[in-house]
Amino acid sequence: MLLATDLDGTFLAGESARRHQLYQLISLHPDIDLVFVTGRGLESVLPLLSDPTIPSPDYIICDVGATIVEGETLQPLQPLQAEIERHWPGEHQVQAVMRDFQGVVRQDVPQERRCSYFCEPEAVADQFHQIADELNCDLLYSAGRYLDFLPRGVNKGSTLRMLIEHLELEEESVLVAGDTLNDLAMYEQGFLGVCVGKSEGGLLDSTGDMGNVFHANEPGCGGILEAFTYFNFLSHKGIAHETQSNHPPGQSDLVIVYHRLPFEEYLDNGVVKERPPGSPNGILPTLLSFFADGKKGSWIAWSVFDESHDQFKRRSKVDADLYPNLTAAKISLSKDEVDIFYRKFSKEAFWPTLHTFWQEATFREDHWQVFLQVNRRFAEQAAAEAAENAVVWIHDYNLWMVPAFLRDMRPDLTIAFFHHTYFPSADVFNVLPWRRDIIGSLLQCDLIGFHIPRQSENFIDVAQGVAPVKVLEKSTCAPRFLTYGCAVGLDEMTSQIEVHGRKIQLSAMPVGLDLSRIQRALTLPETEVRAQQLRQELSDNRVILSVERLDYTKGILPKLEAFELLLSRHPELIGEVTLVTICVPAAKEMSVYDELQTNIERTVGRINGRFARVGWTPVQFFFRAFPFEELVAYYAVADLMWITPLRDGLNLVAKEFVATQGLTGGNGVLVLSEFAGAAAELRGALLTNPHDPHDLVNTCFQALSMDYDEAKGRLREAFDVVRRYDIDSWGQEFLQMVEAFGNKPVEIEHTTH
Ligand code: UDP
Repeated sequence: MLLATDLDGTFLAGESARRHQLYQLISLHPDIDLVFVTGRGLESVLPLLSDPTIPSPDYIICDVGATIVEGETLQPLQPLQAEIERHWPGEHQVQAVMRDFQGVVRQDVPQERRCSYFCEPEAVADQFHQIADELNCDLLYSAGRYLDFLPRGVNKGSTLRMLIEHLELEEESVLVAGDTLNDLAMYEQGFLGVCVGKSEGGLLDSTGDMGNVFHANEPGCGGILEAFTYFNFLSHKGIAHETQSNHPPGQSDLVIVYHRLPFEEYLDNGVVKERPPGSPNGILPTLLSFFADGKKGSWIAWSVFDESHDQFKRRSKVDADLYPNLTAAKISLSKDEVDIFYRKFSKEAFWPTLHTFWQEATFREDHWQVFLQVNRRFAEQAAAEAAENAVVWIHDYNLWMVPAFLRDMRPDLTIAFFHHTYFPSADVFNVLPWRRDIIGSLLQCDLIGFHIPRQSENFIDVAQGVAPVKVLEKSTCAPRFLTYGCAVGLDEMTSQIEVHGRKIQLSAMPVGLDLSRIQRALTLPETEVRAQQLRQELSDNRVILSVERLDYTKGILPKLEAFELLLSRHPELIGEVTLVTICVPAAKEMSVYDELQTNIERTVGRINGRFARVGWTPVQFFFRAFPFEELVAYYAVADLMWITPLRDGLNLVAKEFVATQGLTGGNGVLVLSEFAGAAAELRGALLTNPHDPHDLVNTCFQALSMDYDEAKGRLREAFDVVRRYDIDSWGQEFLQMVEAFGNKPVEIEHTTH
């Protein structure tokens, strides 16, 4: 069977429920060949191919029949395309003659092997037919405004006929669907056909006497479904029965989809047990707090304890006392799957690209397939957990493809996504081989959050290259964010868009801190003791602190080299300042960081070898993770926090330093890369460009020389931000967004070409 359908006004139109029903039916029937037959040019069809809710066509006939490509490869279907090409005089020949006519305006949309104009009915002249004859073209006027010059003998019907013969299909197995006069040629070929509800009058008149054509009542997809029944197109089963949802709603009003569970799992004598997380990062308690009022919810995350463990429980309570109605639903992944999906592929393909280090990225199609499978499993679980019209909140790029699968399974849901990492502009993001799929998936969300406006605007930049994005609303970034003051500043951001008839709300909401966690660490006697020890051990030296994971994005090497330059330019600092570097190693499996580690160690050795004196080592290098409480002791004693990522989504360390100094009445100076997301919100920080060695040195020196009042004033400013926009306010902002902009379906009634 083959369904050849016009797009605008037909396959893309109708009630959303009926569209969904038809799309599902086609997806359920791989034996139905789907052919888009459209007046759009090929480039204008591409955005639809990245929309995961629309079934992928096997062939695309576009430019009103002048272009024919395979759906999968998007390459011309030869020799059919060559045959059409033979009849086309060339765009410029047509343009040269038509240029001078009043009331005829060339359409500014992609088009090939045809020239398409806007033309009011009264401007259509007999002369045009004569011109068409002279150019050996056909002329087609439709929908009361589109005037197309086409290669002689070429139209939607003739190209479809060529395709059917090429595929050696029986004529009776074809159903054509359309709504305007440029679809008439398909019915004239004698195929079974449907004119969907609200079709152009001229088309209805012209097809009224055709025995092969059915006039449906419902517009768009509803009309096609009516025709399926009328022609007994899928004779063996009832349509309604087949498209009943495979995904009945669950019980949860809020579903969190996160890469990690809100507790730790461990094996005790072969038995899987759970305990509270050792070092809960700030976001877990906030996300959990949503369920403290007894809200029904689910938390979906992966677990490496696979089902071969008898004790593996797919669902369990997170904390029956604190969150009585919250269930953890685990996706069991094998070690190999985790390795590919989480450690290798995400880190080797996406992480470098997102952070603009695309040269470091490696892309593997087989790994992408694993990524897709794992994301699908998260989506299936979310679909099973979520109650009708529930909210599903998905976190970070490991789960990029969840919205694509989930929207298809559950159109009723409000899908929200928070992007925790940097998001680059199209120049970099488009390097990803799967960019259309990823953006197509994200565009299924109702709400998308990023840390800062720049990242959100970069997303818009990428999305505009994938689909037509209508900007519905913009908002100013000041005074919450820096505008022209840092590399990642922006004065205005897009806050609402419409794509494929869906509204999407965008928000810049940087993750905040749980200040009480830092306060708790500070009140621990061990923290105070450790801070005192550190002060003694580092004697009277000024302490420059650097804390980061081992990662090329963090700019550790340029920082070390700048410190070397600082000491050689300012010999008065020798013996006076110490750079304490805490570098958290990457997981063992991540061999990509080995070379960086060697280079860092070599550089530290060189600096120490060059400048050290008895009793003073310029760089104190710790290649291990510190418990949070100990880290806070370092934050408390540091005179200067030197954070210089080349690119960073946010940087929590910067905020933690500010909070610690603020809570202890300190006057430490934060020197922060203007490429870290936090730079856009942390007023008071001394910003530096880590790509510029001279600026790194000068800013560090400026911070070391800063007088007490300025340092105190800057810290106050930054601490105000960290205190005001804490993690709870981040959570509240999200809930307010959901309240204001939850999923409200829009009906699409395209009547364009
Ligand atoms: N951290 C830690 N021990 C260490 C070093 C870092 O617990 O020895 C924590 C730090 O407190 C911070 C997180 O690791 O919360 C790092 O977050 P950040 O946003 O700065 O960088 P990311 O690693 O997410 O890129």
